[in-house]
Amino acid sequence: MTTPTHTDRASLQAEDAVDALASFRGRFSIPEGLIYLDGNSLGPLPRGAAERAAEVINNEWGQGLIRSWNTSGWFELPSRLGDKLSKLIGGNDGETVVTDTTSLNLFKALASAVRIQQQDAPSRRVILTERDNFPTDIYIAEGISDFLNSVNATANDHYEVRLIDENLSLEQALDDSVAVLALSHVNYRTGAMWDMGAVTAAAHQSGALVIWDLAHAAGAVPVDLNGANADYAVGCTYKYLNGGPGSPAFIWVNARHQGRFWQPLTGWWSHAAPFAMADSYTAANDVRRFLCGTQPITSMAMIECGLDVSLEADMGLVRAKSLALSDVFIALVRERCGEFGLELVTPENHAERGSHVSFRHPEGYAIIQALIDRGVIGDYREPEVLRFGLTPLYLSFTDIWDAVEILRDILETRAWDVPAYRTRQAVT
Ligand SMILES: *Cc1c(COP(=O)(O)O)cnc(C)c1O
Repeated sequence: MTTPTHTDRASLQAEDAVDALASFRGRFSIPEGLIYLDGNSLGPLPRGAAERAAEVINNEWGQGLIRSWNTSGWFELPSRLGDKLSKLIGGNDGETVVTDTTSLNLFKALASAVRIQQQDAPSRRVILTERDNFPTDIYIAEGISDFLNSVNATANDHYEVRLIDENLSLEQALDDSVAVLALSHVNYRTGAMWDMGAVTAAAHQSGALVIWDLAHAAGAVPVDLNGANADYAVGCTYKYLNGGPGSPAFIWVNARHQGRFWQPLTGWWSHAAPFAMADSYTAANDVRRFLCGTQPITSMAMIECGLDVSLEADMGLVRAKSLALSDVFIALVRERCGEFGLELVTPENHAERGSHVSFRHPEGYAIIQALIDRGVIGDYREPEVLRFGLTPLYLSFTDIWDAVEILRDILETRAWDVPAYRTRQAVT
């Protein structure tokens, strides 16, 4: 698919009529009249998920009770879903488990990578990430680093977190003190995307291991972890994978690292034989060593509904439509809202862009609230950023047109300029 050039509603309608992904919209239950541009934060409800939830609760839990750990495959669920998810991120069977949260999985991946480096390159004590990363990614890196320093208080060489920013490029930061480079493939705020293959190669060349956070990439852009020869990856299932609010996350570990060190959250689900009830720890000899304890089965079971939809869609088509939707969105905002001071913060170069588009505006928060009231759901991220997820499976080109027309109306009439839209809620 190439980007439609005629930016009027009729030609976009014609584009929708030949959209090979159009039928996927029917796979989701989206409220009538709503234009949902926030699938990068919480994906919509896949059809069939409510029925699946009822089955898990009424039959598997209600009738099967404890037997369902075996008879309904609950115990294997993290690995079975992990194998399905692996196909979307260029992983093999046995390299991914669905478990815990992205924050926790990042902790486990960082701890495991640091231990490998303690053996292979002990002088490397820097965890490198970027200032613009999602806050939890920075906080977890700081937490690990502080913990390592606190248990080894006499060491002269301390662990530290180093941040790439406008004063320190990746190339400058990647020296022989870096143990691990941990980056988000697609930036949560700007939608900027790193070149996974090139960055991984550069990090390896300099002797660092690489962890990719795929929170805004999995299901949104083509990802090839083995092709890039990455070391670890983590990510969410509730964003572009449509797994449901707070659905468990995933962790992918390159097969070459799985046998080396266990991660420090050595709960019984990561044991080689959990039901042997042994009095000491032996790590599972595969990716299950990245599990910890009993998983939220009802929530985890929902993930499969969204995953199955994503697995049916051709990722090449998804990517092409995502880029076309965002090109149209950017062009229309420029043309139709040009005088209202929205500043594009997303890279225009296709290779550097994920699947959401963000603009900066001093009244961004109020504008988003006004949009939501008019049935266009986007979200707001500090500082001043209006963020719009462009998800090819359930958005059309006419949705984009209609959303921009509503945005234009709100800007033109200053409908956002009321106190109620300036009051921050707990979740923005
Ligand atoms: C959404 C997101 C998270 C969320 O982590 P949780 O543990 O699920 O709260 C983490 N990292 C990035 C880059 C994200 O975009």
